Amino acid sequence: MAGHDTPKKIHLDESEMPTQWYNVVADLPTPPPPALHPGTHEPAGPDDFAPLFPMALIEQEVTTERYVDIPGGVLDVYKLWRPSPLFRAKRLEEMLDTPARIYYKYEGVSPAGSHKPNTSVPQAYYNHQEGITKLTTETGAGQWGSALAFATAQYGMECEIWQVAASYKQKPYRKTMMEIWGATLHSSPSELTEFGRALLAENPDHTGSLGIAISEAVAMCVADPNARYALGSVLNHVLMHQTIIGEEALLQLAKVDETPDVLVGCTGGGSNFGGLAFPFLREKLAGKMDPIIRCVEPAACPTLTKGEYRYDFGDSAGMTPLMKMHTLGHSFVPEPIHAGGLRYHGMAPLVSHVYNEGLVEAIAIPQRECFAAAIDFAKTEGIVPAPEPTHAIAAAVREALACKESGEEKVILTALCGHGHLDLASYEKYLHGDMVDYELPDDAIAEAMKSVPVLN
Ligand SMILES: *Cc1c(COP(=O)(O)O)cnc(C)c1O
Repeated sequence: MAGHDTPKKIHLDESEMPTQWYNVVADLPTPPPPALHPGTHEPAGPDDFAPLFPMALIEQEVTTERYVDIPGGVLDVYKLWRPSPLFRAKRLEEMLDTPARIYYKYEGVSPAGSHKPNTSVPQAYYNHQEGITKLTTETGAGQWGSALAFATAQYGMECEIWQVAASYKQKPYRKTMMEIWGATLHSSPSELTEFGRALLAENPDHTGSLGIAISEAVAMCVADPNARYALGSVLNHVLMHQTIIGEEALLQLAKVDETPDVLVGCTGGGSNFGGLAFPFLREKLAGKMDPIIRCVEPAACPTLTKGEYRYDFGDSAGMTPLMKMHTLGHSFVPEPIHAGGLRYHGMAPLVSHVYNEGLVEAIAIPQRECFAAAIDFAKTEGIVPAPEPTHAIAAAVREALACKESGEEKVILTALCGHGHLDLASYEKYLHGDMVDYELPDDAIAEAMKSVPVLN
């Protein structure tokens, strides 16, 4: 019978690594709504994106081709850590005493420690191909900044990063990691942009925000003709690059003759979830398997489960094109939960669209349940998860415990999208009983929703 003596790790040989990314748009029953120009509210065209992104990525953003070839210059770098292993969480299953079989795709084996290099590498590659010598970006928790610093180093490019002031102070090791790969770091708000100077004049101790850091990185990119900007989640091309995760997982599960009954993934901007889930959604739409596919978000930032499906801005300052997505309102400021990568007011338009179409489900889980599950996971499977995928693990544990009740032998698949070695302060809080769950009052959402533009 399938699954009863699967190996601990299911590996692919380098020669078996997929050589194409998958574009879910090609297979969706209805096309996702286009991004709109923030001023005219007309569909945004390539010219609107050209100051920020290279043409190859703008084309990938709007393509309807089912597959896009991964360039050789990207595959070479991917091979530093890909194919990534698929693990059977047998020791966790035993601890939970469940008949379910839990598999996790481990993306923490990348140099930066998360799934983000799957997109930072191609983004740097295409910019380099088009003669761009420098990338600017923002980083909050530091995962994306690390991934882009690593990627630009592979192609001999410069990288300038605005890191939210609070995390710049609290996470000195992330900063050092980015500097090892040659990036230049600024605490945001900074003295380098008009916006930053104005904020610092008001408050020299400003702790910053992701929205402010985005505005600074965009302003510095637009001012330099040799520079472009890079975004680590949300956009269609980012989710497409991440599908290497799901394509590999499909091949790995096939090796042990398994198909998932339930797939769970944590959603911040939606990229690791989309990357794992979309290839399985293709198989489901083609009638080859029938997994339940479920997004897991933090109770303190419940974008899908409590937000509205509306056109909204991607940044807090309201500078980006308008995207149709599940949003809590771009002025929404989530509580400082430890999963920094899940504190985003919106959701990838593609994930929002498939959720709105009823193709995937969503649940929200409070952070203490997530850390409790992560501790069980670390004790049995060994790996200390990043705070973000603790949400996916908690959802997998819920499902496994339901199987214990029902006696069902479901196959559960998730992504462990990063390790938590640089996020130990959050575990320290949890272990010492200093972590709280935030109840999100409905009027907080109602207030932030007022910032969402009303379109005709
Ligand atoms: C950035 C990040 C996330 C959130 O981003 P998604 O686009 O939702 O994947 C989740 N987990 C880790 C480890 C991250 O670094």
